[in-house]
Amino acid sequence: MNYDIAVVKGDGIGPEVVTEAIKVLDKIGEKYGHTFHYNYVLAGGAAIDATGKCLPTDTVDICKGSHAVLLGAVGGPKWDDLPGDERPERALLGLRKALGLFANLRPAMVFDELADASPLKAEIIDGGLDIVVVRELTGGIYFGEKGTKKTDMGPAAYDIEQYSEGEVKRIAAVAFDMAMKRNKKVTSVDKANVLESSRLWRRVVAEVGKNYPEVELENLYVDNAAMQLVRNPKQFDVLVTSNIFGDILSDEASQITGSIGMLPSASLATGNFGMYEPVHGSAPDIAGQNLANPIATILSVAMMLRYTFELSQEADDIEEAVKKFLAAGYRTPDICAGKESIGTKETGDKIASLI
Ligand code: NAD
Repeated sequence: MNYDIAVVKGDGIGPEVVTEAIKVLDKIGEKYGHTFHYNYVLAGGAAIDATGKCLPTDTVDICKGSHAVLLGAVGGPKWDDLPGDERPERALLGLRKALGLFANLRPAMVFDELADASPLKAEIIDGGLDIVVVRELTGGIYFGEKGTKKTDMGPAAYDIEQYSEGEVKRIAAVAFDMAMKRNKKVTSVDKANVLESSRLWRRVVAEVGKNYPEVELENLYVDNAAMQLVRNPKQFDVLVTSNIFGDILSDEASQITGSIGMLPSASLATGNFGMYEPVHGSAPDIAGQNLANPIATILSVAMMLRYTFELSQEADDIEEAVKKFLAAGYRTPDICAGKESIGTKETGDKIASLI
């Protein structure tokens, strides 16, 4: 099979980590007889330097014409003084909107070998951790009506949280589909004791859940969910929640793992289209020094194989290779705890060789 992938290398360590992920993808192609075509496009700071715009129209068109998008990271001090809507990071919002990416998937995994990196006590994450936060990405308060008005307490500002049944249905379906491929449990997070939008959310999630009788559905208020995530994260399989709650809980979940260089993410549209990127940013402090951990981007490519191309065996191969890499004692500087480490390129080479 032939697969078209739009590639945004981006800024800072973006190009370095993307190069290693492509190395690994090519190894998969070689092993299984797939051909991956890469359409390199500009977004972020590199696009501003080349074209004056953080998200050129060509980039959007080429992304839309591809099966999936692989993105490194964008931004850096060079562009920090630009106004908000001209900054490199604005390209991410533009891409999400233009590509209709409504579901953000963030797995939080603690590999046994890296349990020491977690800020949680060993007994809490003993035996590893594997949860995924499914966050609604294009609705809710971040996109609702906003404005300012006068009140008798002085000028005020407001942002409206609103969800339609259709928006909740499609994100709930993503979460239940995912749970079917995992441990068959969905935890829906809301604030239904206070918010009308949360009551609609809870009702619609339950309706969608009726189509998945094998999946256990549990509802939690967001304050309780935040607490349970550090108290007993292993009780969770798939967490599904709104844009703003997901923003906060996915960062909390990723901190549990203790290593930002290991965390992949996917943002999905209807159909199988998706954009795949590491959770971390462009890390200007270590850019260009062969110090970046490319594993988050390598695992993002595994998610691309699993969710967009439906190549589970190939995705498993990459995840297994990462586990073998860690089990053999290899570490990048961010996860070496002061011990011996290897560079970005060597990590990509080693993981590719383990496939
Ligand atoms: P960051 O994630 O880039 O870096 C935070 C810290 O983690 C740094 O010390 C960095 O060296 C380290 N780190 C990050 N990724 C690493 C990796 N793969 N290997 C080893 N160490 C790694 O966050 P930041 O410093 O807040 O932001 C830097 C720039 O990135 C900013 O311009 C920010 O706007 C941008 N940013 C972009 C994205 C994105 O493109 N999706 C996300 C977050 C931040």
